[in-house]
Amino acid sequence: MSRPTRRLEVDLRILIVEDEPAIAGAVKAALTADGHAADTVGDGRDALDWTDTYAYDLVILDVILPGLDGFGVCSALRAKGFSAPILMLTALDDIEDRIKGLDHGADDYLPKPFSMDELRARVRALGRRRLEDRAPTLQVGDLELDPATRGVRRSGRDIRLTAREFALLELLVRHPGQIFGQERLIETLWDADFAAESNIVEVYVRSLRRKVDDGRRDGIIETVRGSGYRLRASEPG
Ligand code: CA
Repeated sequence: MSRPTRRLEVDLRILIVEDEPAIAGAVKAALTADGHAADTVGDGRDALDWTDTYAYDLVILDVILPGLDGFGVCSALRAKGFSAPILMLTALDDIEDRIKGLDHGADDYLPKPFSMDELRARVRALGRRRLEDRAPTLQVGDLELDPATRGVRRSGRDIRLTAREFALLELLVRHPGQIFGQERLIETLWDADFAAESNIVEVYVRSLRRKVDDGRRDGIIETVRGSGYRLRASEPG
């Protein structure tokens, strides 16, 4: 019998905070190709929401952002005890910005424009430091989630979830007992564009149930009539 969780040497869960879609997309593509799981947000306040909800191993943080700038995000994260490394993307030749970033709690900086190879090298270096003390796996009954790899197992069976399915399941698992209404779920897990598609939550819950419950009678996600969804309290044994 092997241990239920397997991790690659460097496989981090990374939040990319960058409001320029082209840069955010390119960084995400490069890191995903390296085996990391990456999310992108384009607003400083969203960065705080996402780090509240999910366990990241590393944050890549642009300085100039709408909502709240990179320095503000950085000091807010440190003030609330966020301990994972923060890599700031600073303006080229702006030494003051670099010093300011480090003063606000960043671990490293990379001046823009940067080469993707250098970014990947910085991420590897910061990731190695992080691997020793990162977030543990989450366990509910016979269900096990590894936020770092987005791996899910139930009773020893590997389950493949999409990033969005995993995010939905992780949100429920991290807040046991709490009921999440459709609006709140859409707000947290989807972009505003999706709001029009009113049954999207239902579609994802159904797909999650099919994958995770595998025909069991008491599914892991409970529908609370008229209110939303929550994690079903796990029975003893
Ligand atoms: Ca920017």
